[in-house]
Amino acid sequence: PGGDLSRSMIFHDRHIQPQILAGLNGDNWGLEDYVKRGGYEALRKVLTTGMKPEDVIAEVKTSALRGRGGAGFPSGLKWSFMPRSLPGQKYLVCNSDEGEPGTFKDRDILRFNPHIVIEGMAIAAYAMGITVGYNYIHGEVFEIYQRFEEALEQARAAGFLGDKILGSDFSFQLHAFHGYGAYICGEETALLESLEGKKGQPRFKPPFPASFGLYGKPTTINNTETFAAVPWILRNSGQEYLEVGIPNAGGTKIFSITGDVERPGNYEVPLGTPFATLLELAGGMRDGRKLKAVIPGGSSSPVLPADIMMATNLDYDSIAKAGSMLGSGAVIVMDETRCMVKSLLRLSYFYYHESCGQCTPCREGTGWLWRMVHRIENGQGRPEDLDMLDDIAHNIMGRTICALGDAAAMPVRSFVKHFRDEFAHHIEHKGCVVPQYL
Ligand code: SF4
Repeated sequence: PGGDLSRSMIFHDRHIQPQILAGLNGDNWGLEDYVKRGGYEALRKVLTTGMKPEDVIAEVKTSALRGRGGAGFPSGLKWSFMPRSLPGQKYLVCNSDEGEPGTFKDRDILRFNPHIVIEGMAIAAYAMGITVGYNYIHGEVFEIYQRFEEALEQARAAGFLGDKILGSDFSFQLHAFHGYGAYICGEETALLESLEGKKGQPRFKPPFPASFGLYGKPTTINNTETFAAVPWILRNSGQEYLEVGIPNAGGTKIFSITGDVERPGNYEVPLGTPFATLLELAGGMRDGRKLKAVIPGGSSSPVLPADIMMATNLDYDSIAKAGSMLGSGAVIVMDETRCMVKSLLRLSYFYYHESCGQCTPCREGTGWLWRMVHRIENGQGRPEDLDMLDDIAHNIMGRTICALGDAAAMPVRSFVKHFRDEFAHHIEHKGCVVPQYL
């Protein structure tokens, strides 16, 4: 696992301070430093100034905070689905099973600012009347799990977690759970199965976790970055958070930018920032090469050619209008030397490898896709393969239990759509159109 703050740049624009990565230097992750930065003020405000749970949810709704894990669902609305008055156990779960190729923001939040997630979860738990929570941390990042455990100990000792927090009537027990490293466990119902000690495979939906979640109890699941955004909203206001971003998508977002840029890393920018600005922050194209394509929201999102991407802003609606998805905010930049067939081959293999095998279109289809791209890359492609690739991908989409099927199909369809000539060249000439591969 990589990532240190010396490679992470923070964007200051319109006098906007970053909200999650602000003031971090790599060493100041502990409770004392977090409190110095204003940490736990929001929780104190919520618990000691008479704010009602519904006031907290209203503030989050006003903020237009949308889920940072990929789906972009409005968080305040999600919180309002929790049947607060229903007796019995309810659970809060943080999805830190970050496994999307290109994404590495959550591990940096947990490594450099773990208390912001704890505070966000405690506020969310209060708002939804929940007393027990878990943070499911990706299995391949053990030191992050250890760091979070340490932060939990600090928070418990200081009275920010546990029984009667800050002298109020609210109690919240939060635990860390070290996952197993499977990509599919990032799917929320597979995560719940895994958390229950079972094989991490997605459940049929409905019922949704809000009514039948962990151990069959009402459960709310949010991404790490989503919880990390909550303290700022409550410390300031939902309206101020909204104004930082754009209507319908408030606040800042952390983008993990990788690929052919000079300075890959995590960059926190207001939603609605032009992609061209993010590229500039990341030092521009490596070695001054030309931009060819961008995968804007993690490997599951459709690839976009350079001209479309350079005219697009980084927010949910703008990227959707351009034909892709903001997803988890993993921006993969490809320059003119990248072979699109080879790039797709890597992605296809990933999904083939990570399919949990429950449903036939995904289990068989991901293998077909990979084998077809493999034969095109290896000079054995046939002219009819391009239409067949699109047809197979089309037949996977919408016919599976979880979104992994779509995630495997969308890159294939977009690569073939935008770079069809390159694929056709591979088939016809049994080689690559990109000079160094010839
Ligand atoms: Fe498993 Fe794929 Fe079906 Fe999801 S779509 S449940 S990963 S087989």
